Amino acid sequence: MTEDDFHLATLAIRAGQTRTQEGEHSEPIFTTSSFVFKSAADAAARFAEGATGNIYSRFTNPTVRCFEERLAAMEGGESCVATSSGMAAILTMGMAFLKAGDHLVCSESVFGSIITLFNRYFVKFGVEVTYVRPDDVGAWERAVKPNTKLFFLETPSNPLAVIADIAGIARVAHAHGVLLAVDNCFCTPALQRPIALGADLVIHSATKYLDGQGRCVGGAIVGSKDLVGKEAFGFLRTAGPSMSPFNAWVFLKGLETLELRMRAHSAAALELARWLEQQPGVRRVHYAGLVSHPQHDLAERQQSGFGGIIAFEVEGGQGAAWAFVDATRMVSITANLGDVKTTLTHPATTTHARITPAERERAGITEGLLRLSIGLEDPRDLKADLERGLAAARQF
Ligand SMILES: *Cc1c(COP(=O)(O)O)cnc(C)c1O
Repeated sequence: MTEDDFHLATLAIRAGQTRTQEGEHSEPIFTTSSFVFKSAADAAARFAEGATGNIYSRFTNPTVRCFEERLAAMEGGESCVATSSGMAAILTMGMAFLKAGDHLVCSESVFGSIITLFNRYFVKFGVEVTYVRPDDVGAWERAVKPNTKLFFLETPSNPLAVIADIAGIARVAHAHGVLLAVDNCFCTPALQRPIALGADLVIHSATKYLDGQGRCVGGAIVGSKDLVGKEAFGFLRTAGPSMSPFNAWVFLKGLETLELRMRAHSAAALELARWLEQQPGVRRVHYAGLVSHPQHDLAERQQSGFGGIIAFEVEGGQGAAWAFVDATRMVSITANLGDVKTTLTHPATTTHARITPAERERAGITEGLLRLSIGLEDPRDLKADLERGLAAARQF
């Protein structure tokens, strides 16, 4: 039996580990900045073009490599490079695959810092960016120009769970010689495998579900040997947005329980989304697991679960939404997500505060919208806490 035959839960536990002569069972943390060579000739050989072997932890580190190989196996990619954050992964992607004069097409529903990175920084280096609706395959096709090099999207989107048809957009990309990068942060490989659907690159903020317990910031890019093993790695080893060995160890321990956690997050979120839909004072619930979601069928085909993020709108605008937030006692009021602890955010005044009211309106971020990242607490306790929020919102 080889690793190629293993299922996801097994890969999550077994892939990537190489034991040292000490015979340790659990993966060790290699806290070393550099590695020693056997001789001058050995040193020269390791520095040779195309050679493998450890030199320096900006380039490679055994703990980081274990995380990279494990995540690559889980995503069904040949190579992975780990980065210091999810944003560093997106920067690495841009530096590796775009140059001045190139055109990038991006979903208009992506993580806010990504839009800032593209509009304020990529543009400085002569990269042109067009934003399109993630759920309209035709819009991606119409946005293609002769200089288009890269499509970038997140699915499901944050916070409204808009679903992009990965296979459909991949066909458009490949018909025009364009690369498709999918940010798989919300689903993780436990629920969605973009490479199998045609994506060329998978991006992760490991900070979220890969860790799963809110401890470290990190990121990754997965893809082919040529794209990721050569091009993305070439930028990483030179510029240095590398992952620390300690963080890699936390993330690789996180991967071991990823499938279990994602199944539990999804089950609890589905139960709570259905419950929220029934509550007076709730205008709308955005969750792809609900049959009321306009793209429920696509999500069901493309994903093996619906994930832990729910957005919902309370009646009464910002005042009611804030009253909801302030009346809860257990859930954490924080902008992070993908944690065992349930988190609650008011997007219009936090994650989406820096865009204009008109842009917010177009993005569907209403004043009464709240985002929950459902954790692993008992759903009965979550309902009791959300009930306190709903009561306060209704009184507002
Ligand atoms: C958080 C997040 C990022 C950025 O990751 P960091 O680890 O915070 O740099 C990118 N994409 C998505 C979908 C995210 O949620």
